[in-house]
Amino acid sequence: MTQNLFQARRRSSNGPPVQLETPLAEVDVVPPPRARQLERFGLNTVGALLMHFPKRYEDRTQFDVFPGATSDKAICVCGVVKSATLRRIRGGQRMFDVLIEEEDAGAFAGRLVCRWFNAFWVEKMIAQGHRVVVYGRPKLTGSSIVIAHPEFEIVEDDAEESIHLKRIVPIHAATEGLTPRVIRRIIWDVLERLEDETVGQLVPPALDARPRSWAIREMHFPKSWDDLARARRHLVLEEFLAMQLAVTSKRAELKAERGESHCGAGEMMRRLHASLPFPLTKAQQRAIAEIRADLAATRPMNRMLHGDVGSGKTLVAMSAMLLCVEAGFQAALMAPTQILAEQHYLNFRRLLEPLGIRVALRTGARREDSADMPLFTPSAEGPGESQPHVFVGTHALLYEGTEFSRLGLIVIDEQHKFGVMQRARLLAKGIVPDVLVMTATPIPRTLTMTLYGDLDVSTLDEMPAGRGRIVTVLRSVEKLPDAVKFIRTQLEEGRQAYIVYPLVEESARLEAKAATAEFEKWRELFAPMKCALLHGRVPPEEKEQVMEGFRRGDTKALIATTVIEVGIDVPNANCMLIENAERFGLAQLHQLRGRIGRGVHKSYCILLESTGEEEALGKLRILEKTGDGFEIAEADLQLRGPGDLLGTAQSGLPPLRLGDLFRDADLMKLARNHAFLIFERDPKLERPEHAGCRKLLAANRRVILSQIS
Ligand code: ADP
Ligand code: MG
Repeated sequence: MTQNLFQARRRSSNGPPVQLETPLAEVDVVPPPRARQLERFGLNTVGALLMHFPKRYEDRTQFDVFPGATSDKAICVCGVVKSATLRRIRGGQRMFDVLIEEEDAGAFAGRLVCRWFNAFWVEKMIAQGHRVVVYGRPKLTGSSIVIAHPEFEIVEDDAEESIHLKRIVPIHAATEGLTPRVIRRIIWDVLERLEDETVGQLVPPALDARPRSWAIREMHFPKSWDDLARARRHLVLEEFLAMQLAVTSKRAELKAERGESHCGAGEMMRRLHASLPFPLTKAQQRAIAEIRADLAATRPMNRMLHGDVGSGKTLVAMSAMLLCVEAGFQAALMAPTQILAEQHYLNFRRLLEPLGIRVALRTGARREDSADMPLFTPSAEGPGESQPHVFVGTHALLYEGTEFSRLGLIVIDEQHKFGVMQRARLLAKGIVPDVLVMTATPIPRTLTMTLYGDLDVSTLDEMPAGRGRIVTVLRSVEKLPDAVKFIRTQLEEGRQAYIVYPLVEESARLEAKAATAEFEKWRELFAPMKCALLHGRVPPEEKEQVMEGFRRGDTKALIATTVIEVGIDVPNANCMLIENAERFGLAQLHQLRGRIGRGVHKSYCILLESTGEEEALGKLRILEKTGDGFEIAEADLQLRGPGDLLGTAQSGLPPLRLGDLFRDADLMKLARNHAFLIFERDPKLERPEHAGCRKLLAANRRVILSQIS
């Protein structure tokens, strides 16, 4: 029905038909100067133009009524310009006020003022008598309703109403010289020339039977909100399916790779577990079993171990490494920072040396071996008497290479994106180890399905028993003295504290100065107890000393930037005060908070907030309410988008044209399941119903995989 309508219109417009591949420069309805402008915008072909979807829509069949009060929601009204006044205000600024009035409403006509500052181009466009459509947030200012810097459009002539008025109107992202109105007109004209039969079908009918051409048309000029939702669904599925096909094909490839089995009998691991003062959690046992099966298989392991801070990932890693060593191979653990590498090293030596395992530290700054000890000799051909069994280090580890005569397992702590690259490095050297990446970033399911879709996932969803509770409170910065008093009491009882402040200065010199000032303040507040300072610019050896002092308990309070964020484990530290907490993301605050609550003592996290703004407070209250990392991650994802959640270094998310990882999580699941099914039944995508999938994969695989790994 819908299609016939379009076909009828196309036949009535005479001109050469176009296809998605047609360059815009060759389309007669696109004037050459416009085609050049669009090209600068990255839109070269009909297909690219039609994939430039509207950023929003206005229901111009039904405008909002003129508002009488401030509103948080943007409104869309239509009216006539009664006056346009330009005024100069303080400091040579220009203020342009346009009074618009509801049409044909007589004495009761609604009015509002559209206001622009220093907007020369607007001053030139709007004049008395124009009919305008205005979109923005109204605010009661003095006695008038004002919309500052609204989006607007001048309604020009009635003949064009079918495009710009009396329908759901698309608003496309504009660029210099190309207003939404101009782009809308061009897309309308191009759609009139488009031959639907040439558009093809990418989404398999099992997912959505509607034609792709229909979805594209409805996306730009929807006949109803329902049609728009259906069209969007089709195109989001298409986008997600491309992603999932790419990831699934990569996964199939990895599974087909040949490696070696790196799994011993488990005797050493049993001895490690028996030496611990606590039992493993069920989740740890399950993860170890999953990893063990992977180690035993000849295809290389690519697994992510995912667990909230404090869930005990290190022990799982250590167990896996022992299985590997027992089979006669070496195992390596890579930490993201020097401090963490040192901490793991101490920990590994303490637990593994009694088993006769030789542990080595390799960082840019330090190399060390635990020599002079009776060595464990694996039954299989081992790494040789002179070589360590287990390496702990930073990424400097991988630049060595020569020592890894028999590397069987590599564990990457807290830096998942990093892992993929490192693996590639090793493969290039001809080593095919098993790989385990560990992360405490609670990644929502939607993301694990995309970003890490090619990895298997083990989750530690259980905390070790006997942990002290963490109480989190949000306080205004004026309450600092109370917080200090409270923490002092805790320190006097023998506990320790972290004081975290955000980086404030850009330059190294200023940063060091700010840190020093901060430190002096706290030293006075906690005198005579010992404080220490830790930030990104403290040299490695000094950092290590500082950490060691804190670990031993000599230092009572550690004043630090977020360098303490990941992995630090000092069970006696039970207080954390975070200044300017509003400047951190929720996930990051949760990570920070994970440094406390590691011992038996009740722990306290105090978030100091300095803006008093409702938005900041609302965000931080989530942390007061819940300690569940997944819940927090979901909230964070919703508040800030996935890029921020994972941190810039790790975001690497494919830019999505249409889909929203959060809002469309269900569609992502659908696409994922479908991609799995397709590869299972038809691994080479040879069946006719998968022709579209083959096209999707061919067109997107390289780009998608380069973005997510
Ligand atoms: P994360 O998952 O954040 O890396 P860690 O591996 O650092 O956590 O473990 C945090 C602390 O919990 C360590 O002190 C570790 O010894 C301890 N731990 C690990 N597993 C258990 C367990 N099953 N029971 C009690 N404590 C445990
Ligand atoms: Mg850890």
